Amino acid sequence: MTVASLTANLDQHRSIIEALSEIDRLLLQSSALEPILDRVLPSIGSVLRCKSASVILVDGDCQDHARAYDFFTDAATKRPLRRLEVDVRHLTEACRQTMCWWTTPDDVHFASFLAPLAESGATVFQLCSLHHDQKVSGFLCVGHAQPLKASVSRGIGVTEFAERLSVVLANHERMAQLHRHANFDALTDLPNRSLFLDRLECERRKLQESGGRAALLYIDLDHFKRINDVEGHSAGDAVLRLVASRIVHCVKATDTVARLGGDEFAVFLAQVPNDDAARQVAVRILDCLSRPVKIDGRIHQLGASIGLARVPEDGDSIEALMKCSDIALYRAKESGRGRVVFFSAEIQDRMIARTALGASVRQAVQNRDFDLAFQPIVCCRSQAVLGVEALLRWPNGPEGEGRSPSIFVPIAEESDAILDLGAWVLATACRQFAAWKQRGLGLRYISINVSARQLKDGALLDTILATLARHAIEPAELQIEITESVLAEGGATDRNLRKLSALGAKLALDDFGTGYSSLNYLRTFPISTLKIDRSFMLDLPGNDGACRLVESIIRMCVALKKEVVAEGVEHQGQFDFLSSLGCGAVQGYLTGRPMMSPDVGRLLSRSPAGA
Ligand code: C2E
Ligand code: CA
Ligand code: CA
Repeated sequence: MTVASLTANLDQHRSIIEALSEIDRLLLQSSALEPILDRVLPSIGSVLRCKSASVILVDGDCQDHARAYDFFTDAATKRPLRRLEVDVRHLTEACRQTMCWWTTPDDVHFASFLAPLAESGATVFQLCSLHHDQKVSGFLCVGHAQPLKASVSRGIGVTEFAERLSVVLANHERMAQLHRHANFDALTDLPNRSLFLDRLECERRKLQESGGRAALLYIDLDHFKRINDVEGHSAGDAVLRLVASRIVHCVKATDTVARLGGDEFAVFLAQVPNDDAARQVAVRILDCLSRPVKIDGRIHQLGASIGLARVPEDGDSIEALMKCSDIALYRAKESGRGRVVFFSAEIQDRMIARTALGASVRQAVQNRDFDLAFQPIVCCRSQAVLGVEALLRWPNGPEGEGRSPSIFVPIAEESDAILDLGAWVLATACRQFAAWKQRGLGLRYISINVSARQLKDGALLDTILATLARHAIEPAELQIEITESVLAEGGATDRNLRKLSALGAKLALDDFGTGYSSLNYLRTFPISTLKIDRSFMLDLPGNDGACRLVESIIRMCVALKKEVVAEGVEHQGQFDFLSSLGCGAVQGYLTGRPMMSPDVGRLLSRSPAGA
């Protein structure tokens, strides 16, 4: 070797080392792959004095596909990214054996990505695999004008670059994983809340400049908790994945779908010409989500509610828009679920009023501002008062609908105020019942409404037992009214109900026919009484369909050996019809409105004794 070629060799080594340390510097500055390749490939080109330098990256999710970043030393412009098919195993094997191939090899595995590189003037190529965690993640391919001298063709320089590029790729993959973890929901692969908010902000800015319109949809699954609790978490997960893919299929690729957490999803519709267009997409999503799902061989009925905020009308910040869609969603759920509600100032006012009402309810619970009314439950045959249902009253509650228990009880249920309130109802009703008993007024039982939230409470049973004991009331003299949805709760609710029944308390299914109920629960749960909801009474006895429906419910109860109480009986015609079907008891304005305790005393002293 001549002095001149030795010097040249040394020079090349020095430039290789310089180029490698530049890669290290780039690595420290950024984990983004393309900017690093944009700097590294030209540097490989000049250091190795080659015609082309390419990095072929195998797709993470599909090993048959790859993308190639090419650099041609003599080209004035950047080469476009190439997508190609590769046989990774074959290429890896080839890298192990030798490092040179001609541009027109017989082997098709090389032709596909080497042929386009011939444009650079390269005729011979060196290929080196890039590894990460003992897995091949790509290849470095360097193309030369002529076959190389033996010393060079052994790969000096190329292997060093390949090693360093392997580190770059590993780092990039780690960062990509971290990025995924921080920005995407692992279960559904959708953007998570934080990425969604970022994108929303971007889109909002774009809209501000373009003057366009968009919509933000807040989606909440109805009754998802039931599937999760009853069928288990893996069924719940499967449902969430399915929901995610259904939502994605309902929107355009330019829209963003995210999972905000739990069973809450959000969609940003990037371009909507008007409200109708936004509503159409929202309704399409509702339709898709209400199609039954089959998980582990079992069919489930899902549903969803959607709150919709218009961009930019409803808010000039992301926080404001999210809040508006959330308020609209709340309204959608409150007004019966399974619907789309657009945000409006009126809804916001309602929400504010409701929040204020919530505060008043909590205050009233503390101040013991409530009272109890009692409504007789009357035997159809003997007309005797069998029992009374305790119904909450709020005498000094706010004017308007807020004073109705149908409004303030659900509000108390939103906070733990219902626990306090429920305990007060139980104590007050039992004290009153004991007083009537002492006066010898023949009542068989006192009926008390118990909320789902109370039934979940581990202390409920002890509270009930202590109250009954304090007033010397038998468990059989207590009837607990629950709604149908409670039966599907499982867990502590299930245990509480079964223990109460085992102790001898009666369980009544309230508002029967209005809720989610599986007739199977009637068979497997120790329900003693069904209270047919008053909505079934409205068309009695004039309407044939209504008559047949009530008749079949009563027949079923008789067959299942359950007592039946028809609620909301207001007219003699209804009463006569129900009696003729064998309905056991009625509760309604006809036989007695809810009344305060002195009136109950007077009524009972006049009432025919026993049944
Ligand atoms: P509910 O348990 O279905 O109670 C029966 C409701 O129907 C009562 O309304 C009663 O006044 C009304 N009603 C009775 N007979 C008739 C009739 O012939 N015609 C009509 N149109 N209505 C009739 P109220 O007192 O407004 O109570 C509404 C709901 O509030 C109750 O429905 C119950 O779900 C809840 N609630 C009341 N008190 C309590 C309580 O102490 N605890 C809990 N958790 N909920 C309660
Ligand atoms: Ca009731
Ligand atoms: Ca009822």
